[in-house]
Amino acid sequence: VDSHREILIRTMSVVAAIAGLAHVIFLALFWVMGAAELAWVNVLSVATYAACFRLVRRRPFLTEALMGLEVVLHGLVAVYLIGWQSGFHFYIMLVVPTALVSGGINKRDDLVVRWVGGVGAGLLYLFMDATMRDWVPVNPLPAQVLNALRTFNLAGTFVILGLLALVYRQLIAQAEAVLRHQACTDPLTQLKNRRSVLDVISHEVAAFQRQGRSLVVIIADVDHFKMINDKHGHLAGDGVLQSVAKVLQGGVRSMDHVARWGGEEFLVVLPSTDMAEARMVAERLRACVAAQVCHSAKGPIPVTMTLGVADLHAGESVEQLISRADQALYQGKQAGRNQVVVAESAPQPSPPNATH
Ligand code: GH3
Ligand code: MG
Ligand code: MG
Repeated sequence: VDSHREILIRTMSVVAAIAGLAHVIFLALFWVMGAAELAWVNVLSVATYAACFRLVRRRPFLTEALMGLEVVLHGLVAVYLIGWQSGFHFYIMLVVPTALVSGGINKRDDLVVRWVGGVGAGLLYLFMDATMRDWVPVNPLPAQVLNALRTFNLAGTFVILGLLALVYRQLIAQAEAVLRHQACTDPLTQLKNRRSVLDVISHEVAAFQRQGRSLVVIIADVDHFKMINDKHGHLAGDGVLQSVAKVLQGGVRSMDHVARWGGEEFLVVLPSTDMAEARMVAERLRACVAAQVCHSAKGPIPVTMTLGVADLHAGESVEQLISRADQALYQGKQAGRNQVVVAESAPQPSPPNATH
């Protein structure tokens, strides 16, 4: 996911490129129309946007400031030279939401951008509206040209406003995506967390009921994990959980789900898998975990896991399914750990009494 900063920088590059091109067109137009002063102003604008385009990555704040300044000065000078009717002041309005909403690209500059840029541009626009509406232009252009310019500038203002709205929407969507990921992910192992895998199972159970697909869950619990913590320290314990997570995730198909169920317990969900296959998967996972060697400062850490396997029966709830896997796990612990135990079938629900 792109960072807020990256999105703003990319937006500024695009804006600098478009604005630079627009000013090349204005430059040519004013030159042809005989408004030489304004043509020269546009040479400065083109140079500014070219500089912005090159600077934006290294000096984003300077770029932000330069772009704001260009818009404001260009608006002021254009109205001064060719009059209020040209509509070049519209662009100054855009500085207000841009500066107020996006603020500085760095925290340090945020207040400056908001107050000087946002509030300053708003006050300047009000001042211009109060004093320059009847301004006699220094370099008057034909009325038709001015009207065309005004329409173009108004349309340009709308387009830029629309683009700004799109950028803000992208920023919000991206922030939401980060939050959603955090809400579903275990920070230590980067696996799905309990809440997220429960959603997955509910989804799979619904598919099971609709299409009669099979579904297996495995609960895997690290053996004597408390001893690992006690002997090697909590940090080494965390490291063990991370490597176990990698082994489990690497040992299943992409359609399967591996989640951190609790402290040192993991839940594996195998959709469309029958018990014979699931038993093989569980045995493979057990063997892979036992085969990998973790290390701490105190030496190698042997790690084994016990796994309880249960397949979903018709009419069974998610809680019942997981509880049977848990019971199988418990039996495995009782029987000496480092093994796979398959749950017995659920008691069959009594058939509805058809005689009534
Ligand atoms: P058993 O073989 O019966 O499963 O024994 P065990 O020691 O693994 O089980 P127990 O439930 O007694 O201990 C689990 C330990 O896991 C206790 C707890 O401190 C530790 N633990 C839980 N979450 C974390 C964690 O995020 N990091 C670390 N390092 N330890 C954790
Ligand atoms: Mg344990
Ligand atoms: Mg446990």
